Amino acid sequence: MARTDSGGTRAAGGYHGRYLRVDLTTGSATLVPLPVEVLRRFIGGIGLGTWILTRENPTGTEPLGAAAAVVFALSPLVGTPLTTSAKFAVVCKSPLTQRLNDALSSSHFALAAKRAGFDALVVTGICARPSILVVDGCGEAPVIHLETAEDLWGLPAAGAEARLKARLHRPHEPGFHTVAIGPAGERLVRFATLSHDGRHAGRGGCGAVLGAKLLKAIAVRGDRQVRVAHPEKLNALARDLSIRSLGPATEKYRELGTVANMLVFNRLAVLPTLNFQESTFAGAAGLSAEALAGTRKKTRKSCAACTIGCEHVYGVPGTTTEVRLEYESLFALGSLCGVGDPDAVLEAVRICDELGLDTISAGGTIAFTLECIQRGLLDPAAPPAPADAAGPPGPGTAPPPGIDLRFGNGAAVHYLLHAMGRRQPGLGHLLAEGSRRMSAVMGGEAEAIAPHVKGLEIPGYEPRALQAMALGFAVGTRGADHNRSSAYEVDFAEGSDRLHGDAATARAGIATEDRAALMDSLILCKFLRGVFKDFHGETARLLAAVTGWEMTAGELRRSARRLVTARKWFNQREGWTEAEDTLPGRFFSTPLREGPSAGAILTRTGLDEMRAAYYVGRGWNLKGEVPATLRRELEIE
Ligand code: SF4
Repeated sequence: MARTDSGGTRAAGGYHGRYLRVDLTTGSATLVPLPVEVLRRFIGGIGLGTWILTRENPTGTEPLGAAAAVVFALSPLVGTPLTTSAKFAVVCKSPLTQRLNDALSSSHFALAAKRAGFDALVVTGICARPSILVVDGCGEAPVIHLETAEDLWGLPAAGAEARLKARLHRPHEPGFHTVAIGPAGERLVRFATLSHDGRHAGRGGCGAVLGAKLLKAIAVRGDRQVRVAHPEKLNALARDLSIRSLGPATEKYRELGTVANMLVFNRLAVLPTLNFQESTFAGAAGLSAEALAGTRKKTRKSCAACTIGCEHVYGVPGTTTEVRLEYESLFALGSLCGVGDPDAVLEAVRICDELGLDTISAGGTIAFTLECIQRGLLDPAAPPAPADAAGPPGPGTAPPPGIDLRFGNGAAVHYLLHAMGRRQPGLGHLLAEGSRRMSAVMGGEAEAIAPHVKGLEIPGYEPRALQAMALGFAVGTRGADHNRSSAYEVDFAEGSDRLHGDAATARAGIATEDRAALMDSLILCKFLRGVFKDFHGETARLLAAVTGWEMTAGELRRSARRLVTARKWFNQREGWTEAEDTLPGRFFSTPLREGPSAGAILTRTGLDEMRAAYYVGRGWNLKGEVPATLRRELEIE
C-alpha cells in the first residue's frame, strides 16, 4: 500500500491544486502540485489533461508501452450543483492514431475521483500481472494499492465493475466507483473503450492503453468536499441553468434522443451508407426513433447530476437485454453496414458494449471490410497478416464465418464484431488494427476507401455534403471527430451552403471548435449548448462563482484558442505533418448520387482553401505548424 504526502498548492475554489501520479511498475504514488496559473489557463477536462499529458508522456512514447501515461482529468465544476457537470476526461496518446486522444465519460466515477482529493489521476508503468488499481481518498491523503484482477480478466466491463464493487463494499463507508475495460481492451484492440456504469470513453483506444498496462479496472472513493468560492451565487446560477435545460433547446434529446438524426440525415442525403458509397439508406425508416420505440420497451436514463436525460434505452424483444442507443452507434452498425433490421443493430451495439469496442470505429472497420470483400480486394478466407500488430492473435483457430460476409447481413456484422473484439486469428486479428492499418497492408484502391482521418474512423456525417464538417474532420487533432469540432452546426445553419465550403466556412468552424474545447474543459455536456444565450459570458460567470476568479468572456475566448493550439502542439511534437490534415481519396473522386446532395464532391483546391483559412485563423503558419511566438503568447508551455 502506498501513501502520498498531502502536498499541493493552495488552489482556487473548485480545485484541489494537485494531481495524483501512480506508477504501476513500482506501485508508488505521488501528489504533484498544480500551479494555480496552470489551472486558470487550462481549466480542466481535456484542457488540463492535455497540459499534464504533454509533461507526463515523453515525446515519441509508444502508446502501448510501459512509459505511456493515461490522464483522468476532472474539472472545477464536478461535484457542484451545475447540471451535466459530473464528467471526466481520459487523455492519452492513441494507439489508433498515434496522436492525442481525449475521450469523455460521465457520472459517479467523476464525483468519487473529485472527492478523493485531486484534480487528475495519472497512471504510468505496467502491472506485473492483471490488476486493479484501488485509490482510497478517504482521509488526509489518497492511499493506493494494486490487487489481483485474475478473477475479472476476460469479463465484460459491466460484469467486472459489478464484481469489483461488491468485493470492495464496506458497510457504513463511502462506496467505490469504478472504470473498467472489456475483453477488447485486454486484447489490445486499437479502438477498445474504457467504461463506467454503461457509459464509455469511447474513441481512440484508451481501453487498449489500460489493457497494455494489464490494468483491468480502477476503483476510487473519497470523502472530501471541494470548496466553492461563492456558493449562494453558484446555487442561483445552477437553479436557473437547470430550469432552462428543460426548455426547447434540449427537447429533441429528451423526447427522441440523438437517434432522431437518422431520418433527418437520410432526407438531406448526408447519411453515410454502405461505407460511404451512398448517402441515403432505404432502411432508414426502420431505424428511426419512432420505429424503434414502436415495438420495444423504451426507458429514459441520464448521467449523474443531469436534468436533461438524453439516454434512450431500448429493450430487445424476447429478451431481458437493454441497449443504450445513440445516433452514432445506429448509423455505424446500421446504414454504414447496410443493416436495416433494428434488432440486428441493437444486438451489434450490445456486442460492442460487452466486448468494449468503440461503435464508430468498429462499424467503420466492418463496413470497409465488407466493401473490400465486395470489390474483391480482400479474401476473407486468406486475409493478410497485419503489420506491427498491437498484440498477438487470440488463442486457437478462428471459426469459419459460415455466413455471407456482405452488406446488409446483420449476422455478418455480429460475426466480425466477435472476431475483432477477441482478436480471433485471421480476419479478427486484422480488423482489430482498424481501417487505416488494414488498408496499408492491402494497399492500392483500399487506401482510398478506408473511412478514417489520422486513423480514426469517420462519424455519421457525409463530408462531401457537409463541407464545414469535412474541414473539421481533416484538421481534427484526434482524427475524424464530430464532438471536438461541432462544425456540422455551420453546415446546418440557416442560409449556409453546406455543399461548397470556403474561407468563411473555415472561420465559422473555428468558432464551433473553440466553443467545444471550452465545454470539454469545463466539462459541461454539449447538449446544453443551445441553452446558453451568451455562451462565453454565462460560462465565465459560472466559473467565477466556483473559483472566485474575476473571469470575463474575453478570457475564456483566449482560453479556447489556447486549448485547441495546445492539443495541436502535442501532435506536432509527435511528428504531425500537413499531409495528415486531409480525407480519404474517395471523397475527392466520387460525387454523391442522390437527393438534395446529388453531385456533391470535395475538391483538393477547395479543401486547401478552407484549410489555409483555418490555419491562418488559428495563428498557425501556412503549413499548419504552431509558431514558437504563438506558444509563448498563449502561454502554452
Ligand atoms: S444530456 Fe445526456 S449525455 Fe449529457 S449529461 Fe445528460 S444524460 Fe449525459
